[in-house]
Amino acid sequence: MSFRFRLKGYYQRKSARLLFRKPFLIRPQQPLISFTFDDFPRSALLVGGSILNSFGLAATYYASLGLIGKEAPSGQIFVADDLATLFDQGHELGCHTFAHCDSWETDTETFENSIVENRAALSRLVPGAEFKTFSYPISLPRPRTKAKVASHFLGCRAGGQTFNVGTADLNQLSAYFLEQSRHDIQSVKNLIDRNRQEGGWLIFATHDISDHPTPFGCTPDFFAQVVRYAVGSGARILPVIQALEVLDAPGCRQVRPSPRLVASAVRVSVSQPSLKPLVSILIPAYNAEEWLADTLRSALAQTWEHKEIIVVDDGSTDRTLAVAQQFESDSVQVVSQPNQGATAARNKALSLSKGDYIQWLDADDLLAPDKIARQAEVLDRSRGKRMLLSSPFGQFMYRWYRAQFVPTALWSDLSPKEWLLRKMGQNLFMQTATWLVSRELTEAAGPWDVRLRGNDDDGEYFCRVLLASNGVQFVPEARVYYRVFGYDSLSYIGVSDVKRDALWLSMQLHIGYLRSLEDSPGSRTASLDYLQRNLFYFYLDRPDIVSHAQQIARDLGGELGPPHLSWEYSCIKSVIGWEMTKRLALELRILRKSANKALDKALFSIDNRIHAARPLDREARVVFTEPLPPVKPI
Ligand SMILES: [Zn+2]
Repeated sequence: MSFRFRLKGYYQRKSARLLFRKPFLIRPQQPLISFTFDDFPRSALLVGGSILNSFGLAATYYASLGLIGKEAPSGQIFVADDLATLFDQGHELGCHTFAHCDSWETDTETFENSIVENRAALSRLVPGAEFKTFSYPISLPRPRTKAKVASHFLGCRAGGQTFNVGTADLNQLSAYFLEQSRHDIQSVKNLIDRNRQEGGWLIFATHDISDHPTPFGCTPDFFAQVVRYAVGSGARILPVIQALEVLDAPGCRQVRPSPRLVASAVRVSVSQPSLKPLVSILIPAYNAEEWLADTLRSALAQTWEHKEIIVVDDGSTDRTLAVAQQFESDSVQVVSQPNQGATAARNKALSLSKGDYIQWLDADDLLAPDKIARQAEVLDRSRGKRMLLSSPFGQFMYRWYRAQFVPTALWSDLSPKEWLLRKMGQNLFMQTATWLVSRELTEAAGPWDVRLRGNDDDGEYFCRVLLASNGVQFVPEARVYYRVFGYDSLSYIGVSDVKRDALWLSMQLHIGYLRSLEDSPGSRTASLDYLQRNLFYFYLDRPDIVSHAQQIARDLGGELGPPHLSWEYSCIKSVIGWEMTKRLALELRILRKSANKALDKALFSIDNRIHAARPLDREARVVFTEPLPPVKPI
């Protein structure tokens, strides 16, 4: 196989997962489990269905009507009469294409026709019956197939051997095939436990249920053990459509008031007495033992009294959780989850929050005591809940009172389009904590994108918030202290492929957002500048991304040149070549930052000994209610 073809295959597999997603936040009030059967062998209903019924439960059967009555690799397939039994027992029917087409090997048109044919065959057999969900036969779908299939169903299920939690893809829900662990009940039990701990939706799949199962099925005994353990886990067990209804998935008829409505009703009654909006300060924390206490103190010191603080420890391996727990109180809630990245931690914090406004705060940054109050003052005068509030931010390492506040073109009142044009065209950014976001805007923007693990997740998220807003109002009196680090910073890209992939995805989304607002010469130029400036991170070591970037540049009517290097590096480049020069530039950047960091730490330590951390600079009007703790001797 030629390299070109292998590269193409890689792209397709990757894009099946990334493209044409219907992102949807899975956060049930109670963990969910569904049982599904692919191909609908008779035994799945007669044996498997009876086992579920004996617990008062039902399943979803994904049928290929072209296989009716046939002997398939997964056993004897159902006959027409079985459909009546299925509906009588309260099970659901789902679609699996008429001819059981391979989702990867079949061309999109043939695949879609097979769905239409399956639907027609069903309405001939059971007039009025409809398929509402789908399961991809055999393989992962081609991206185009995925895009087409999505429009036919409320949700589509694939494999993946895991459960759905946080932001899931309704066009490609994950499932766990039981036959793959049929000699290992413990791993199934562990998965059920994890689904309970993380509050997810676990979808089991298998085929036949028989004393002598095919390689694609399992025994009644094994299946009954799984069902019993699932019931014992306290999860709610529902067939797929009912689960989607409970999750309030788009397009699903609402059967009961959604948790969100109930929560907002509670919120209103709680907020009534003070009439002031509740602000949720949400802090994701990973290995932040050194900083978290200061960050929490700055949150507690907010002069805005009506607040709640939520810390989500993202599986830290240091003492972060212990530090956070020292602050636990009526107004500080601390939860911990296995490490899933900052985006998942942020979504978790958001799911627990009740505030009318959201203040995001990273575990090493600080808020000036009146940060929220200053922005809240403006709220009364601002134009509704769709207005997004921002503030200045200063950068520091240890000596926050020496923070540098350097204004940029983003530090003013701007329309969404103008803001994005300036950000991308001039390579600017706004720090996460500068924003104060209404719940209405937060809900319109959707959850944090968990695909952007480790890089530019906030850049992408606030683009979506911005797109949903009526514009940005800049509040110059509100202040944020942004702690910048050297090589160990989350936002340092370095040479990690995961981070580069995340940055590249975020960049493509940025360009899409800007062009969705306005596809003009101005927006194309800003997009080209943005591509050109960030090309540095991919140049030469990621030819795949560079050629994709080049292709996008051509679509925008431009062309990318080699990345720009400052003059000292240009000279070096001609001697040691581009790749070595880039490595050198990155190394020097790290060196320079760690040197600055060490120096700042030393000076901070001296200041602490002399002044007990009294503010030295009039500019920084930050006085915390408690003195900062002494710094570890260096
Ligand atoms: Zn199948």
